[in-house]
Amino acid sequence: MTDIALVLKAASFAAHKHRDQRRKDEQASPYINHPLALANILANEGGVNDTATLCAALLHDTIEDTETTADELRESFGETVASVVLEVTDDKSITDKAVRKQLQVEHAAGISDPAKRVKLADKIANLRDIVATPPSDWTLERRRQYFDWAKSVIDRLRGVDARLEAVFDQAYSKRP
Ligand code: ZN
Repeated sequence: MTDIALVLKAASFAAHKHRDQRRKDEQASPYINHPLALANILANEGGVNDTATLCAALLHDTIEDTETTADELRESFGETVASVVLEVTDDKSITDKAVRKQLQVEHAAGISDPAKRVKLADKIANLRDIVATPPSDWTLERRRQYFDWAKSVIDRLRGVDARLEAVFDQAYSKRP
């Protein structure tokens, strides 16, 4: 049974943490739309009802992109949720973005199954956003490169969830 109360607490926590951030699309949509999209993909397209996975999806960018600490997540959502969020958090002490992207490819196979599902949902949501509401300053080449990089991450973690992998392939098939 999904713990709806905890999932809603995670949504509310993430909304607060991301309250001053916007997405890169032309309308500068509220950032929280993105974590909500991940949780929605997992629950309604992937059939995922695991509480920790849904909470981690909602919280997946809080450590990377806000002041949130792992201890804060541990206290409010427990060790499992905090550890999944950490698994999908880039190491920002590595300042070279290309290196961070390459590390995502290299680490993808070794992360937990919940973290793999969150990563699948993240890439699905991002590919859809790039097609539907692309960042205004992204060239065609940059959009294509993002699609190809996302696929190389997902190709390393295949075998975890056939349903979500099919949703990813569908999103990838719209490559610009
Ligand atoms: Zn994300």
